[in-house]
Amino acid sequence: MKKQRKLDCFGAKRLSDLLALPGVGLVLLGGYLWQWSGKGGWIALVAAGTALLIAGLIVGWLGIVCPRCGAPLYQFPRLPRRMPAHCPRCGEAVQKEQ
Ligand SMILES: [Zn+2]
Repeated sequence: MKKQRKLDCFGAKRLSDLLALPGVGLVLLGGYLWQWSGKGGWIALVAAGTALLIAGLIVGWLGIVCPRCGAPLYQFPRLPRRMPAHCPRCGEAVQKEQ
């Protein structure tokens, strides 16, 4: 049995990227195919990509927070490309668990 672990800010960032990056790709691909083919059905791809992107953003907004005080480690609504070294509110060092 695996021990259930709370999603830490690094895990949340990974999951957020995992959802949002393919989401952006799908939106671009769907938009391109839509324009190129003129078929409205491709909007389903755009919608799926948008849903993934939003899911990734929500995971990031909820999960990328200081492990000590819970302050967001980003400037809303933008998510960080790299995790900051310290929490902007309490100054806690944000480090990967060993
Ligand atoms: Zn903090």
